[in-house]
Amino acid sequence: MTRFKDLVDAVYQNNPNADLEFLEEVYRFAEDLHKDQYRKSGEAYIIHPLSVAIILAELGMDEKAVAAGLLHDVVEDTSCNRMGLADHFGEEVAFIVNGVTKLSKLECTSKEERQLESYRKMFLSMAEDVRVVMIKLADRLHNMRTLRFQSEEKQKSIAQETLEIYAPIANRLGISKVKWELEDLCLRYLDPEAFYDLVDRIAMKRDEREEYIQEIISRMHEELDKVGIKAEISGRPKHFFSIYNKMKKQNKDLDELYDLIAVRLLVDSVKDCYAALGIVHTIWRPIPMRFKDYIAMPKPNMYQSLHTTVIGPNGDPFEIQIRTYEMHHTAEYGIAAHWIYKESGGSEISKDSTQLSWLEQIKEMQNEASDNKDFLNSLKIDLFSDTVFVFSPKGEVYELPQGSGPLDFAYKVHSGVGNSCMGAKVNKKIVPLDYQLKNGDIVEILTSKQAKPSLDWVNLCKTSQARNKIRQWFKKEGREENMQRGKDLLETELKKKDIEPSIVLNKQDSLIEIANRMGYSCWDDVCVGIGNGSLTPLQVTNKLYDEYQKYYKGKPEEETVESLLNSKANKEVRRKNNDGKGKSSEGIVVEGFEGIPIRFAHCCKPLPGDPVIGYITRGRGVTVHHMDCPNIKGGMVKEADRYVPAYWDQEDSGVYQVEVFVIAIDRPKITPEVMALINDSKVHITAITSRVKEGKTYMNISIEVKNLNQVILMIDKIKSISDVLEVKRTIAD
Ligand code: MN
Repeated sequence: MTRFKDLVDAVYQNNPNADLEFLEEVYRFAEDLHKDQYRKSGEAYIIHPLSVAIILAELGMDEKAVAAGLLHDVVEDTSCNRMGLADHFGEEVAFIVNGVTKLSKLECTSKEERQLESYRKMFLSMAEDVRVVMIKLADRLHNMRTLRFQSEEKQKSIAQETLEIYAPIANRLGISKVKWELEDLCLRYLDPEAFYDLVDRIAMKRDEREEYIQEIISRMHEELDKVGIKAEISGRPKHFFSIYNKMKKQNKDLDELYDLIAVRLLVDSVKDCYAALGIVHTIWRPIPMRFKDYIAMPKPNMYQSLHTTVIGPNGDPFEIQIRTYEMHHTAEYGIAAHWIYKESGGSEISKDSTQLSWLEQIKEMQNEASDNKDFLNSLKIDLFSDTVFVFSPKGEVYELPQGSGPLDFAYKVHSGVGNSCMGAKVNKKIVPLDYQLKNGDIVEILTSKQAKPSLDWVNLCKTSQARNKIRQWFKKEGREENMQRGKDLLETELKKKDIEPSIVLNKQDSLIEIANRMGYSCWDDVCVGIGNGSLTPLQVTNKLYDEYQKYYKGKPEEETVESLLNSKANKEVRRKNNDGKGKSSEGIVVEGFEGIPIRFAHCCKPLPGDPVIGYITRGRGVTVHHMDCPNIKGGMVKEADRYVPAYWDQEDSGVYQVEVFVIAIDRPKITPEVMALINDSKVHITAITSRVKEGKTYMNISIEVKNLNQVILMIDKIKSISDVLEVKRTIAD
């Protein structure tokens, strides 16, 4: 059980000159005010402020802060007010306690609002007196340590808030000791299964690991001794939360993570840091790009250290941190390590810690910003030289490196959001994608299912996370993209040459042959090649043109026995369903030729709704072709006067034959499944051929439909069958 004596011990450790009588007086005062109150755990309430005060004392905070810690809940929870506190213990203590009280009173309704509000108030309080935030952190730490007495729902929401607000602030103030503990405690409540699994598994291999660490440490001592560098070396597994994050980010199991341990070398001077680094690199091979010099370039939270990762004796990489004892103290206690006790009895943050200039900036900003409500929006100065905090429209806080843009944000939220990004709004205004995010920006990503990443996004992104995700997308989806682009380019080129794409592109055998001749294993790869620019559409079109010539040589559309027979069949089909209401018996009107025989070209089988054109035959009336029919392309120029406009009769109720071409992955029952679907749609199948080649099934299905819409619908339905790769209407063949 925590007692006042523990507090005295903790205070004495860091501040032997502290006024212990004053603290005891404060303690008695708080104990008396809280005397009838109990915590959820059943303990007397005073245990909580006492524990908070001990945490503050352990962090090396001054006695005013410790006193305010003891009193931090009295204004909110007891009859005592700020005036009373000021009377008893002075304005400074009353001011701090009042600051903590204001922070606790968050009167926002929604979670989002509360988060924004919390952040804003934290910044403001830091500007007024960092000790307010220190007490808030200590308060949260003790609440997290005793969170098990709360309901599960509360545990989760408090842990979430801690992870989103308090841990980042502890990090910002450089108090990694508190940050780590908060994060590990959060994990325990937010993902208990993962947490306890990690605890168990890390404990399991403890002996093995400690032996390994011992081996590394003694090897280092051996080499450092030779050059006379005194060092304190320790090794430990990384924190649960950072391991957990790594597993999630890299999608790996614990066994697959190698750099689980961090070894720390503490030396007397900066000179020794670099010397020790040199020694370490002669013992084990360093991994390139992993060396970081935070001594020359301290982090904005004042952290200083050398980091390097080397290949350890068992072949696994591990991280080594090298720093002086003083740097280490700062690393653990952050801003609290820079507390100076003035001779006059007061205290302040050391002015020599220039890295904390952002605190000064907040102070100035606070003087300027008279309207607290607009505080975040009016954050003009970058508080943190390496980081920006931005918000989602829902108020979630995201931390990004300085210089990040909307795309970095989008990919940080989710790769799906990034990949479908089509624009961004910052503070409700549209911004270009190269916009640089500023602190407090509210970023909204506009997405669209049609949107696709673009390769030049890579240059707009600051974070490697976003860049990697874009590159990944191009590896995977880019193939599809290039293929489609290739197909489009090819079609355009074919049309330029008056070749109907569907004719040449439906002939799978010759396509594969052409692909092989060009050194590709399949036709899709040829299209990808066109799409990514390694082939020109013209190269491929020339090859296809040869095929086209071969196929259509000596196959005039007119006067063949086959076409005559088919036109008969066509008429019969239509007659069957014709109710006689139509103005034209054929369901089509050819301008200026009403009443003369009309037949439909067998080559392109036009459907109501298709763009059509009439061709005046020699002695057999008018043949109606699809506008895109390749068989009329040449003729329309040569025999222009034989072509006449034609359009569909609106009231037509005939049925028409159309051929649909289906490519599917060959699997049992794929053809019956397609047939069943067509039958289920009450569409009549007049013919079907199906063949299998190289793992794919090719089907030519003739169906009877009333109009174009019905075919389009049918094609969509067939496309939805699994393993069906491609469905299209055959315009001619
Ligand atoms: Mn409290």
